[in-house]
Amino acid sequence: MAIVGVETGGTSTRVAAADGGRVTLLAQVPTTTPDATLARIADALRGVAPDAVGLAAFGPLDLATGALRATPKPGWSGFGVADAVRDALGAPVTVDTDVNAAALAECRWGAARGFGDAVYVTIGTGLGVGVVHDGRPVHGLPHPEAGHITVRRAPGDDFSGVCPFHGDCLEGLVAAPAVRARTGKDGADLDAAERARLVSALATPIADGLVTLAYACAPRRIILGGGISRLDGLLTAVRREFRARLAGYPGCPEHGDDAFIAPPGLGQRAGIAGALLLAGAASAPRWPPG
Ligand SMILES: [Zn+2]
Repeated sequence: MAIVGVETGGTSTRVAAADGGRVTLLAQVPTTTPDATLARIADALRGVAPDAVGLAAFGPLDLATGALRATPKPGWSGFGVADAVRDALGAPVTVDTDVNAAALAECRWGAARGFGDAVYVTIGTGLGVGVVHDGRPVHGLPHPEAGHITVRRAPGDDFSGVCPFHGDCLEGLVAAPAVRARTGKDGADLDAAERARLVSALATPIADGLVTLAYACAPRRIILGGGISRLDGLLTAVRREFRARLAGYPGCPEHGDDAFIAPPGLGQRAGIAGALLLAGAASAPRWPPG
């Protein structure tokens, strides 16, 4: 049974196919307009006849219809991404958010392996949060959107934030567009002093957001992924701030382990691995391919 995973992330779209235990990454292309992105997905799958497709899509998504809700990404608001993928590939599509899919994959194969309660946070173009509870991704109205919670800032940080909806929500303070607005550069282009200043500005609001997630969702692991999270020194600073902010409450020693806030065990493949899982848990391949 051939299954296909499609991950339409905020920055890039990946397509992978699996047949038995063999997984092939077929394409990684920039996520641009819906039509152009769909065309690249269909191109990558020319000659492949999938039995089932798992779609891990950036949100916010209406999970009942598989259509995007209001998003600042030009051209995508209201777009029926699940229907479009189904029509392009001619196979049934199971859809979830890219971050819920990544959280599922991290529970199955990655840094939360063996746990059914985990939170996956990615900080890149946006800030997405996927939540798995009792082995299942959390859905509701429409699904967790914890990138847009309000957080405390680092002392002296007066950056106004760039979220087009909320200004200084967590995403508006720390995701890639905020880094660009704060520094005039991408994270990778900063010198050591600039990076140290940025890490201090980002660690407090990120850690504050993770404390809220730890208290609200009771995860056994928080996975912290995305390009911004790989800034030199940021993960260490976030762990330190997180422990300070918990202040010993509620007294779970696990919160102090470095493994509690961990980088993705699947690296940048968590989303596409999760898309393959969505395509059919019963027939999901081993990941990573061995
Ligand atoms: Zn916001």
